[in-house]
Amino acid sequence: MSAIKMDGKALSAKIRNQILAETEELKASGIVPGLAVILVGDDQASQIYVRNKEKACTECGFYSEKHILPATATQDELLELIDILNKNPKISGILCQLPLPEQISEDAVIAAIDPKKDVDAFNTSNVGKIMTGDYDFLPCTPAGVMELLKEYNINAEGKQCVVVGRSNIVGKPMAMLLLHENGTVTICHSKTNNLTEICKSADILVAAIGKANFITADMVKEGAVVIDVGMNRNEEGKVCGDVSNDVMEKASYMTPVPGGVGPMTITMLMKNTIKAAKLQNSIK
Ligand code: NDP
Repeated sequence: MSAIKMDGKALSAKIRNQILAETEELKASGIVPGLAVILVGDDQASQIYVRNKEKACTECGFYSEKHILPATATQDELLELIDILNKNPKISGILCQLPLPEQISEDAVIAAIDPKKDVDAFNTSNVGKIMTGDYDFLPCTPAGVMELLKEYNINAEGKQCVVVGRSNIVGKPMAMLLLHENGTVTICHSKTNNLTEICKSADILVAAIGKANFITADMVKEGAVVIDVGMNRNEEGKVCGDVSNDVMEKASYMTPVPGGVGPMTITMLMKNTIKAAKLQNSIK
């Protein structure tokens, strides 16, 4: 058996078209969704992510601004820029590309973004709302995974769901969204004992570890749904996920890397930006 590839590129294109149609409607009533992306320093991977986000804004008909600060920028300079963007009515959403240089506290930056413009959903007030299930924005990567599951009619209800990784941006919110869908959720991390056994119990396995080809076929149950969030570089410098290719032969569904979760993450950012524009204009 070879797994069905869950095509995040195709689903993204479909959702971006829907967002573009919604944007046209909003524009007719004088509202233009706007995204400001901030990049501090010259990290190569971050530059690619920012470029992809700008491209997605164009596809969705949004106004967008890119702010590039040098790697030597101070925290005060960045907070000052965020304050200006918080007050700018043309900007519906603000995204500060992580990681940041070490002289800047990521927590301070996340806290400074107006929760109504926090399209990454990293601010503690938005994180709290995700816990209760009464949220405005969902964090982009886990939200993208849930959209993919929905598209392929995979229901988490009653299923054993295992999330490997407990970061604030992926693992933890991913577990929470699966729980909201009535999955029975286990979160694993670097201190987990019996990782292979736990992964093998999963009907739905999400890998968000950041280690190339870490999840191998012997860790996966026959017929499991495997979601690969990882974005790593292998020895040849090629982009690869956290899940080894041999898992394709065991899983029923699997996300490819690239072309699975990655494009969905950016599309969910677009979804949050149009939602922010609506919220700020009191439109449901
Ligand atoms: P983090 O480094 O913040 O978290 C990694 C998690 O993996 C940690 O919880 C860590 O455990 C766990 N881990 C590390 N080693 C092991 C191990 N040997 N066994 C079990 N668990 C382990 O990474 P992120 O969550 O930010 O990202 C994860 C991956 O997803 C990366 O490859 C990243 O590039 C990718 N990513 C992809 C996105 C996309 O759009 N496709 C978006 C965001 C991220 P512990 O907490 O104990 O240290």
